[in-house]
Amino acid sequence: MEEDTIKIKDLIIIGAGPAGMTAGIYAKRSNLNPLIIESKMPGGRVVLTDFVENYPAFPEGISGQELAGLIESQCRNFGVEFENFVKVDLIEKDDNTFKLKTNKGDFFSKTVIVATGANPAELGIPGEREFRGRGVSYCATCDGPLFKNKNILVIGGGDSAVQEAIFLTKFASSVRVVHRRDKLRAKKILQEKAFNNPKIEILWNSNLLEIKGENSVERAVILNNKTNQKREIKIDGVFMYVGIKPNSSLVKNLVELNEKNSIITDYKMRTSVPGLFATGDVRNTPLKQIVTANSDGAIAAISAEEYLEYELR
Ligand SMILES: Cc1cc2nc3c(=O)[nH]c(=O)nc-3n(C[C@H](O)[C@H](O)[C@H](O)COP(=O)(O)OP(=O)(O)OC[C@H]3O[C@@H](n4cnc5c(N)ncnc54)[C@H](O)[C@@H]3O)c2cc1C
Repeated sequence: MEEDTIKIKDLIIIGAGPAGMTAGIYAKRSNLNPLIIESKMPGGRVVLTDFVENYPAFPEGISGQELAGLIESQCRNFGVEFENFVKVDLIEKDDNTFKLKTNKGDFFSKTVIVATGANPAELGIPGEREFRGRGVSYCATCDGPLFKNKNILVIGGGDSAVQEAIFLTKFASSVRVVHRRDKLRAKKILQEKAFNNPKIEILWNSNLLEIKGENSVERAVILNNKTNQKREIKIDGVFMYVGIKPNSSLVKNLVELNEKNSIITDYKMRTSVPGLFATGDVRNTPLKQIVTANSDGAIAAISAEEYLEYELR
């Protein structure tokens, strides 16, 4: 490939969430000239989080939007370049150059850090897709205010489900958490807050089977998986927190993925393809959080620098 006919970057980072932007800061400080390509505006899933209380250095907590804005400012202060509203559909490797196919043409780079995060998983039940945006939501911060004085269900039992159920009590008159087991997976501190909130009821050993209505969500069919009894209850909205699926389709034919479609990396964020690194929620990380995404991003940037310096000859 002719370097003088095509502009080949040293490093392209895909995704401007905490992982990608931290990689940008570390890469810039290592004298690389990284470009961050982002399909939306910078920030990542953090902007969907009402309140972050476990990110160090903010003893009173901080809104997700504000935190994402601070990380972006730091990145921009270092002069990291951004291309927003560019979606990378596919990455190919030819010799030692990566070709990124996007909706705004092809980009070329010697190294790539994939920091594309993950999206909420669907439950896959009747009514879920039909009523998406008409009562079915995956984002309490975005849609919570639309449910003032309404009765809603939150599906799931992990940190996100419980945290967002608590948030939704600011608007809704009742929040029922539908959980398929008899114990929540959420951290104890969140569980206590939920148990002490008079607006929250937990429906234990329960599965949401179907969402019904005319133009918007009106009823839900719930199964008690211990007694096998089904019942139909009146509701106005359903918020889904049943897991996430990694945004790895852009490299699915290029790198090794695990059974959950997470990109497999080693401790240096190296994938099975030399020069291609992965960070944050898109990789096989044991903890999907902002602080771990940041850490991954820093390591990936340094690994990319080492690769350019010592391996790419
Ligand atoms: C409701 C909720 C509450 C949470 N609460 C907390 C909390 O309190 N504390 C905490 O530490 N963590 C929390 N998290 C988790 C945290 O938000 C994630 O772990 C973190 O954002 C992961 O960062 P990331 O950079 O890997 O991915 P993301 O933040 O998901 O960023 C990925 C970016 O890549 C972009 N992208 C994806 N595909 C492409 C493509 N093909 N081309 C170009 N760009 C692309 C996306 O638009 C996105 O901006 C919460 C998450 C949610 C959903």
